Amino acid sequence: MNAKTILVTGGAGYIGSHACVELLQDGFKVVVVDNLSNSKIESLNRVQQITGKKPSFYQTDIRDKQALADIFAKESPTTVIHFAGLKAVGESCDKPQLYYNNNVYGTLVLTDVMMHANVKQLVFSSSATVYGESSCPQYTENFPLGAINPYGRSKAMIEDILRDLSAADRNNQSKYPWKIALLRYFNPIGAHESGLIGEDPNGIPNNLMPYVAQVAIGKLKQLSIFGNDYPTPDGTGIRDYIHVVDLVKGHINAIAALNSESYKCGGCNAYNLGTGKGYSVLEIIDAFQKVTGKPINYKIAPRRSGDLAECFANPELALKELNWKVEKDLHDMVTDTWNWQTKNPQGYI
Ligand code: NAD
Ligand code: UDP
Repeated sequence: MNAKTILVTGGAGYIGSHACVELLQDGFKVVVVDNLSNSKIESLNRVQQITGKKPSFYQTDIRDKQALADIFAKESPTTVIHFAGLKAVGESCDKPQLYYNNNVYGTLVLTDVMMHANVKQLVFSSSATVYGESSCPQYTENFPLGAINPYGRSKAMIEDILRDLSAADRNNQSKYPWKIALLRYFNPIGAHESGLIGEDPNGIPNNLMPYVAQVAIGKLKQLSIFGNDYPTPDGTGIRDYIHVVDLVKGHINAIAALNSESYKCGGCNAYNLGTGKGYSVLEIIDAFQKVTGKPINYKIAPRRSGDLAECFANPELALKELNWKVEKDLHDMVTDTWNWQTKNPQGYI
């Protein structure tokens, strides 16, 4: 049993709540800091229902420096997993200030408080959106970065800040250097197999999977497929969908790596978390129809601006350095999404 305390920012959210389950089941103590701007406390009640254990919870904004410092003093975490952030690409284009303030300034406050508390192990939720457009659709960590919207740029800026913090410690030969894993997620979907926690988007979903699920259950009438004239086998966009439970297990492996010999002298490294395999929009619809037996009503709509034709991960570095690989397939992702959706047609209420 591991009694280390992990502080999870954004732990009431979609990915954070799944991380809480895995951490608690692995014997960690969990402290959640979340302002509930995009989540409900019910998610943490469900975490307790699944695990029989309760994470400590603080309804706090990570930009509230004093409150955050008090939490660090009281809870003495060894490591932070930093999920807290706003994530809607379209909204980030309308409200860039909000995104840079919440995501970038929020991370500056968090890392400042961590430094003062001498807690310098961090696992950060980055995103495949930090990559620039590439002629090769399979993305490797050393590909050039070039986010094309404020959300993606907020993630890229945070990565830069974290790399600089680590470099400063290296230059100063710090005795207690930053150890940071930047986890670049591809497309997380699915839900815990219990159907008790899952993705509960506010309003009309932007992402494909929750949209398809809401069409299947009759909450939405019709899916628009954004373009069927891409240079892909069926003309629709291809993405690397990853089961959220596989994804959060990558964070646990990252914590182990940060505590291992390979990070003895500190460091800040990026890892792709994806399956390495892409599926098209039509393949996702087909898989959903097969699992649920429900027809998905769709129409072909124009391309969505900023979308790439094809994007999937090269996950070899995460296998090599984090000893991590996915265990679940598309059938699991769709089955678990549908289980969550049918058990919680209105999300958390
Ligand atoms: P989510 O919105 O469900 O969870 C984020 C949580 O952070 C929410 O509970 C929200 O209330 C909280 N939060 C936001 N700003 C905060 C602040 N200033 N102080 C305290 N709490 C705050 O999103 P998610 O899908 O679970 O994503 C988690 C992280 O992973 C985000 O940083 C997101 O950008 C990143 N990410 C998500 C995806 C995806 O497709 N879901 C893909 C790549 C990266
Ligand atoms: N997509 C779609 N209709 C939707 C939402 C998404 O056709 O209502 C497509 C989108 O063009 C992309 C894929 O589904 O090819 C995944 O989109 P999503 O927004 O889920 O993820 P991201 O674009 O961030 O990879």
